[in-house]
Amino acid sequence: MGLNTLRAHELRPRLQVGELGAEELTRAVLDHLSATQPAINAFISVDQEGALAQARSVDQRRAQGQPLGPLAGIPVALKDLICVRGGRTTCGSRILKDFVSPYDATVVEHLRRADAVLIGKTNMDEFAMGSSTENSHFGPTRNPRAPDRVPGGSSGGSAAAVAADQTILALGSDTGGSVRQPAGYCGVVGLKPTYGRVSRYGLVAYASSLDQIGPLAKDVQDAALMLQVIAGHDPRDATSVDQPVPDYEAVLTQGVKGLRVGLAREHFGPGLDSEIHQAVQRAASRLEEEGAQLVEVSLPVAGHPDYCIGAYYLIAMAEASANLARYDGVRYGYRAPGSRNLQDLYHQTRSQGFGAEVKRRIMLGTYALSAGYYDAYYLKAQQVRTLIRRDFDQAFAACDVLLSPVAPTTAFRLGEQLEDPLQMYLNDIYTVSVNLAGLPGISVPAGRSTTGLPIGAQLLAAPFREETLLRAAQVLEQTTPLN
Ligand code: GLN
Repeated sequence: MGLNTLRAHELRPRLQVGELGAEELTRAVLDHLSATQPAINAFISVDQEGALAQARSVDQRRAQGQPLGPLAGIPVALKDLICVRGGRTTCGSRILKDFVSPYDATVVEHLRRADAVLIGKTNMDEFAMGSSTENSHFGPTRNPRAPDRVPGGSSGGSAAAVAADQTILALGSDTGGSVRQPAGYCGVVGLKPTYGRVSRYGLVAYASSLDQIGPLAKDVQDAALMLQVIAGHDPRDATSVDQPVPDYEAVLTQGVKGLRVGLAREHFGPGLDSEIHQAVQRAASRLEEEGAQLVEVSLPVAGHPDYCIGAYYLIAMAEASANLARYDGVRYGYRAPGSRNLQDLYHQTRSQGFGAEVKRRIMLGTYALSAGYYDAYYLKAQQVRTLIRRDFDQAFAACDVLLSPVAPTTAFRLGEQLEDPLQMYLNDIYTVSVNLAGLPGISVPAGRSTTGLPIGAQLLAAPFREETLLRAAQVLEQTTPLN
């Protein structure tokens, strides 16, 4: 097996003692990436030269006996809405296709300090709006486990890259499920941290009250390792929380004895694929066999598609319409040629620069915020958001983690849902409430369908209980039969 197929925690000890060089590992990863990129299209840009230079610097410093960071020499891919100084950050959009970021995101600073090797930027739905990575100016990404299927989205490039061993680790962003759902579709681990756990500085905003950066990894331990590096307070993000960062790897051996695992009846209602239903039930039984206690809970608002999908898409689109106002052809990125006046410049730039889904959301979001409709839509959605939070507060009084599906189906075929935005939005039924409530969530592989497609299970916890999530996820991973 090639070096590129190993996990960060397997590579780390070999890199630390110098038995394996960072350059050798980086070359193995980049070679495999170049060979498989045409078929999968997980990357928008690859920084061969830069990555090899970073790897060589790690090797040199090791040879000199200098101390190295916790991810020294480990290749990492970044979703292309995370800013890296001097490199392109496109957000999967024509409007930013030549935008070069003048600074590093805080997570990138953390990765550099950890001596990770940044190999490139991954494909995504334009401005993270989508669930399939088909809304990208750079063409769709394919699911490495089934090339006629989508990898999920919007962090589909990051999930596919990890699943295809084109990188060791990746970062995505999750506004309504964009780390967890593609992880589920591609059979990898995806962790969405508590809102405020990871700095959003240098993350291009989609919906600021929901966005959070999170790791995609080949296993739970690697996700813990990555979270350890990126978590923490950042004065440059006013919503980042000043709370100590626990030792996430240390909790992985604690098991689930005595842990109360909640199953919400609304998460197993109509529309859920029966194979997924069974896989999640089997996951629950395995946790029980390991000493957890199963409890039934109810999420009448947070688990109801009419409320959670409705509130999420209203709030996300309203915030997006404000956040995307900055792309006007004056300050950032693309400027339409030959406009007659300023109004025309805005009009042409935005008409040509944004794709159809982004335009739909800007229009719907602007509508929901407009004077006559604000109370009926935006305000209502915020009220529902409060009820969703209360639902989870009540549930977490009765249990320590919630176990649910990640998505109602396995990965669908490319093109299958593109013409039906509502159908596409409904894929997010189990993930969006988590962002509305600011909770942490993790998606872990829970088996495969009879046709061989990955099935994910989702674990949720109260704010800042990532340790509990990781403990339970580790047990699920270790007890899931390989098939
Ligand atoms: N699919 C959801 C949306 O389109 C979530 C996307 C995300 O988490 N970035 O808004």
